Order: sequence, then C-alpha cells, then structure tokens
Amino acid sequence: MSSRAGSQAYREWHLVRRPQGEPVSDDFELVGVRLPGLDDGEVLVRNTFLSVDPYMRGRMNDVKSYIAPFQLGAPMDGGAVGVVERVSGDAVDSTDRRLREGDLVLHNAGWRTHAVLPGRATRVIDTSLAPANAWLGVLGMPGLTAYAGLLRVGEFRSGDRVFVSAAAGAVGSVVGQLARIKGASLVVGSAGGPDKVSWLVDEAGFDVAVDYKAEPIASGLLRAAPDGIDVYFDNVGGDHLEAAIGSMRRGGHVAVCGMISSYNDTEPPPGPRNLGMLIGKRLTIRGFLVNDHADLRPQFEQEVGTWVRDGRMVFRETVVEGMEQTVDALQSLLSGGNTGKMLVRL
Ligand code: NDP
Repeated sequence: MSSRAGSQAYREWHLVRRPQGEPVSDDFELVGVRLPGLDDGEVLVRNTFLSVDPYMRGRMNDVKSYIAPFQLGAPMDGGAVGVVERVSGDAVDSTDRRLREGDLVLHNAGWRTHAVLPGRATRVIDTSLAPANAWLGVLGMPGLTAYAGLLRVGEFRSGDRVFVSAAAGAVGSVVGQLARIKGASLVVGSAGGPDKVSWLVDEAGFDVAVDYKAEPIASGLLRAAPDGIDVYFDNVGGDHLEAAIGSMRRGGHVAVCGMISSYNDTEPPPGPRNLGMLIGKRLTIRGFLVNDHADLRPQFEQEVGTWVRDGRMVFRETVVEGMEQTVDALQSLLSGGNTGKMLVRL
C-alpha cells in the first residue's frame, strides 16, 4: 500500500495491481483527491461506514463476469453509509424523498471518505428499525441475499431441515435465523472456530453448529443431521458442497450463493466428486444473484426489520476502525476474521 499526495481530507482507495491469490497491501493505493463541484440534483456525502464484501475479490480479477472488474488506477466502489453534508438544488433520493443536510443515506460509492453523487443514487435510511450501519448487513444486501436465497431459490418450506455454510457471517447468520423463525425442523450451520459455533447455538438459535476447522465437514454434517437435509444454502463451495450433496434428502434444493473457499485460487478448484447423486436424489441446484430479487425488498424489510427491532433476529458486526484499515478488513474477511458483517468505521 502506498499513499499519493493530494487532499488529505478526501481520500479514496485505488486498485493498482491485480492480486495473484490473496490480496496484499501493495495491490492498493490510498489516494488524496479533490472533489468536483456539485451539479444540480447532486449531494456531497461524508461516509461513516464502508462495507467490505467477498464479491469485491472477484472484481479485482480482469475477467468477464456478472459485474464489471475494478479498473486499475481508478477508485473502487461498494456499499457505504454516510451523512449528507451538502445538497444542490432539489436533490431527491431513489424513493423521491427530498434530501437534506444531515440525512443518513445508503449508497454504493464506498472505498472513499467522501462522495459526490446524484441524489437518486442514494437512499435515506430508516433508523427506527436498526442503526444506520445495519443497512449494510442484516437489513441490507447480505440480508436480502439470505432472504431471497433461502425462501425463493432454495424453496424452503416449514418443517425443512436446513444447512448453511459460512453460517456466522453476514449472509449465513440471517439464513439460519430465518429458517428457525419460519419453522425449520433443524437448522445446522458450519463455521470456523469455537467462538463462532458457540455464538450460532447460544445466541443465534441454530440447533447445531459444526466447526469445520476441527473436523471434516462431511462427518460433522452427518452427525449434526443424521436424517439428512432438505435445503443447503451454499456460501463456500468445495468440500462443503460435496458434503451437503452427500447429506441431501430426496427432492432437496441447493441455493448456490457463493463459493468463498475458491475466491483466492489461481487455478479452478476441483468439482464435487459426488455429482452423480443429483440423479437418484432428484436434487435441484440453482445459482442466484441478489440483484435479480430486488422485488422482494419491501417484503424483506418489513419482515426482517420487525424481527430485528423486536430482538427476534440478532446480528453481529465486526468493525475495523479507520480508512487506512480498509484493505486489512477485506483480507481479514476473506480469511474468517469477522463474525457477522465486516465493516470499516470512518
Ligand atoms: P461473510 O460475512 O460470511 O464472510 C466470509 C466468511 O467466509 C468468513 O468469515 C469465513 O468464515 C468464511 N470463509 C472464508 N474462507 C473459507 C473457506 N475456505 N472455507 C469455509 N469458509 C470460509 O461474507 P458474506 O456473508 O458477505 O458472504 C457470504 C457468501 O455469500 C460469500 O460466498 C459471498 O460471495 C456470497 N454472496 C453472494 C451474493 C449473491 O448475490 N449471490 C450476495 C452476497 C454475498 P469462517 O471463519 O466460518 O471460515
């Protein structure tokens, strides 16, 4: 990581080299910038929380994907929450709400201290349900991912036995709690380490949590769900997907959300060795992207927002302090340093 001269008040992270394997600090540069003036309808936002997310690792590779790669020498972006400091003209947010100085907004111009952007690219946050930063996690993109993936893609039904991997993370912790609240007969999660599995069982209401670092996931899952599982929500891929296929019951559904175990790989990972089981077990495996399920947002916010406000659904955040630590936060996220949503507080 290097730092280029410029305004120290306004700074943004640039990707300056495409990572090979795990991202390292020299792949990034923290750059001081001058902000442009505001055009009519634009706002100046001072960011207070930045989101770091696993998908950002994929955007660092120069490959064709569902989302454009980050450009070298240009600012990165991602989810953020901030305070509106200046408003030009009759700026309104994405819901047509008139923007005012002091409003807390959600937007996608993260990885920087300040952003000038069209008001319509922001959304004013409702802090009556949860603090502003929760709109980057449990009530934000990761929460909606859990909701759409379990209920629509995974076709969850009350009474199902559910398994979710990376269960102590932002998405996984919502998946397991949703399943419990909606009547699952068994909720199993996997996570790395004793603190995470304790949190899942003691606070998040999972029936069983398997520490995949302490034993192979296949044997842990067999013990946790001896009668098998109906829905697997896959955040990890690799050995977790193979173990889940092995434990699926007839007619089960796999919602493929992410494959974080291979995001830093430089060679394609080996596939599950037991794909033949899809046939006899009549399994459905379906990948999805949260952006295709935006129509569920009002229903999701109403349901999950109420559970969060009433304390029926708990959430955790791992907060790293300071703009300079953003790359460290991403590295830590990719290696399991977070419980719940990983955030950077500015
Ligand atoms: P998390 O908060 O779950 O953080 C990532 C976690 O992944 C880490 O904490 C770590 O937990 C776990 N992990 C890392 N490496 C491995 C590994 N080799 N094996 C097993 N677990 C590992 O992140 P999110 O909740 O934001 O994202 C979870 C998944 O959902 C990711 O795969 C992400 O790409 C995907 N996603 C997909 C979306 C879509 O639209 N399809 C939208 C949003 C997210 P541990 O300590 O337990 O290993």
